[in-house]
Amino acid sequence: MMRIDVISAVPDSLISPLNTSILKRAQERKKVEILVHNLRDYAYDKHKQIDDKPFGGGAGMLLKPEPFFECIERLLNERKYDHIIFPTPGGKFYDQKMANNFSLKENLLIIAGHYKGIDDRVREKFATDEISIGRYVLTGGEIAAWIIIDSVVRLIPGVLNDSESALNDSLMDGDIIEAPYYTRPAEYKGLKMPEVLLSGHEKKIKDWKEEQSKILTEKWKKINNLE
Ligand code: SAM
Repeated sequence: MMRIDVISAVPDSLISPLNTSILKRAQERKKVEILVHNLRDYAYDKHKQIDDKPFGGGAGMLLKPEPFFECIERLLNERKYDHIIFPTPGGKFYDQKMANNFSLKENLLIIAGHYKGIDDRVREKFATDEISIGRYVLTGGEIAAWIIIDSVVRLIPGVLNDSESALNDSLMDGDIIEAPYYTRPAEYKGLKMPEVLLSGHEKKIKDWKEEQSKILTEKWKKINNLE
């Protein structure tokens, strides 16, 4: 079973995201074990302080190194991690290829920053992968952790039911966007679905899906300035 550990200063923010829908089911089916560690439990001073002002000045508070070192070293004493992931705006842009790669691994550890971030010695000492989930800044790495966990766990065999299969989703097999989907009713408030999908003609439906996929892929590349 895959195991994913997350270290967070605000572990409560991950309770609902990790315990709803498919992620909940994946844990119930024993396909993945997800543990969120409260950074504060590893602060050993009497005030359980986990943050402090940055050296050199500047606004905001920074997460201190000691609780992270304590927690990570304890986890590393128990097992080896295939990847120690540090979500950061300065990281490599996250994509499906990275999700596919992580989904084949046994143990992942995600170190979530918060406030102004984490004392950089934590990244320097432990991070094997610095990942950005986009060109914007979040309040914390918990949201990035959720995104990474969600995209990875759905790929573990047995997590999705057949009908939810991930194999033909957009971006699973290179830069390809899937054709649109429709369900009943065939007409709703004057909006019709493409006739061909009602035809029962397999070849025509396949050709239509391929053509739509090409159109949507071109559009996606254009609006994102890709190639
Ligand atoms: N001061 C940091 C900087 O300028 O790079 C940003 C800190 S941000 C407010 C707090 C935490 O959110 C970061 O330590 C990181 O873990 C997470 N974070 C913010 N934006 C992110 C992004 N685009 N991708 C991944 N993680 C992000």
